[in-house]
Amino acid sequence: MCALDRRSFIKGVSSGILAGALAPGMNLMAATPPAERRKSVSFYPVLNFDVIVVGAGPGGIPAAIRAAQAGAKVALVEEDLAVGGAPVDMYVTTLFGQPSVGLSKALEQELLRDHGLYNYESGTKPKGWRFFLPSAYVRLLSRNIRKEKNITLLSGTPVIGTMVVDKGNRNRVTGVRIYRNGHIQELYAPVTIDATGTGVVAAMSGCVCMYGSEAMSDFGEPVGLEKASRAVQLCTQMFISERIRKDAIFPAGFKGSAAEDGYIGANRLTKEELERRATGIFFHWGQSVAVEDTTDPVQIAEAQRDCLEKYEERFDQLHEAGFAVHIAPKLGVRECRRVKGEYVLTANNVLEGSMPDDTVAHAHYYMDCWGMKLPKNMKTKMYGIPYRSLIPLNTEGLLTAGRVISGTRLAHSSYRVQRICSNIGEAAGTAAAMAALNKTGVRDIDVKALVADLDSKGLFDALKK
Ligand SMILES: Cc1cc2nc3c(=O)[nH]c(=O)nc-3n(C[C@H](O)[C@H](O)[C@H](O)COP(=O)(O)OP(=O)(O)OC[C@H]3O[C@@H](n4cnc5c(N)ncnc54)[C@H](O)[C@@H]3O)c2cc1C
Repeated sequence: MCALDRRSFIKGVSSGILAGALAPGMNLMAATPPAERRKSVSFYPVLNFDVIVVGAGPGGIPAAIRAAQAGAKVALVEEDLAVGGAPVDMYVTTLFGQPSVGLSKALEQELLRDHGLYNYESGTKPKGWRFFLPSAYVRLLSRNIRKEKNITLLSGTPVIGTMVVDKGNRNRVTGVRIYRNGHIQELYAPVTIDATGTGVVAAMSGCVCMYGSEAMSDFGEPVGLEKASRAVQLCTQMFISERIRKDAIFPAGFKGSAAEDGYIGANRLTKEELERRATGIFFHWGQSVAVEDTTDPVQIAEAQRDCLEKYEERFDQLHEAGFAVHIAPKLGVRECRRVKGEYVLTANNVLEGSMPDDTVAHAHYYMDCWGMKLPKNMKTKMYGIPYRSLIPLNTEGLLTAGRVISGTRLAHSSYRVQRICSNIGEAAGTAAAMAALNKTGVRDIDVKALVADLDSKGLFDALKK
């Protein structure tokens, strides 16, 4: 348990200053806020919505769109000026995970149709992974958000605190405080969705958060670590390179995964194959680095600086060889907090393909837990994400979407990829709208009706084939 006393905890939470400090392994229970906390500190007019979605990434955007389509008045709050999350600010521009359904399928079809990087004149056949430019994501996602008249997008406005009142045996999140143009603005809604990728909204609300690895015995997982550890997956500095000279080929011995046209590992191509390529955009997993505490902005900044320093020589080599390099603005952080919910998904669920009655999203991907040795050829099956994993313990008025939902580190390493985050987002947004419009708690919605709604949108089609 943490070293903070209750008073300083409450003070910190109310101002939001503990956002970074609340994380690793602290497992703080929700605290009762003092009366003065309920007084408005809003400089700008207080705004009221049905649903607030924090984070416009692969989890948050589908959540906002589905909530809006269900008739809810939605605030979509993003700290960056551009929407998109990891594909845009970390250059994670490949969509992994299955099933490809619903909004992620539609997005991918649009990406392929209008923003494909494959040069059909080159005669090379597409194979392997596809990637798209971050700007393609910005354009399409902005347009898709704009189409929804029920969404108010607030960008460049980080959430710096939450409003929480004690209700019954649970704390209720009633809204968020955003930093807007040098001042605070308060937004209220019966349901808020934490789709921040870091779980910072839940942490600021006093929810129980998980960080790092559990021991295998904690959840009876068949693989993993004997002892719990605070280590999280490595962070990676992604980049994109682009031919600026016609004769450019990668320097001899150039290492670092790369995919041209989003299809083939360039480091696996022969010199001749590279020369035959007509297009010249390459996607790279660059330098990776361990970060002890991914909630700490100082450590993240230092890690990014280290990655850039370590790669400086390679960037120079690439430039001399005739390539321009576009470096992702943010270091790629794979893992941060997970918000403990009514159910914790485990490696067993991923391996067995469990489908609980309250399954609201399908997921299939291997356990891609960087830095942890797992048995090779471990097969995973399509599994169900239960609605309970989206509901933070001891808290009302709050749901989670994207990679922050409740699961062990191993389960998270499977469901953290973008198509699955999107499927989860659609479920969270639909559920939030149901709760808000029917004036019920997030636990009291008709889950069968939620599942039926998602089914009607094709979210469960993969298992029907
Ligand atoms: C290096 C790396 C490589 C990866 N490779 C792949 C891959 O190839 N394919 C794949 O599918 N997945 C990959 N992933 C995983 C995937 O990109 C992420 O897990 C996924 O983007 C998570 O989506 P999300 O919506 O939960 O969070 P995010 O994408 O992180 O989006 C969260 C959004 O919330 C915003 N936000 C955060 N805090 C606040 C706040 N306080 N106020 C307002 N806004 C806030 C952020 O700015 C961001 O836009 C990779 C991840 C990394 C880091």
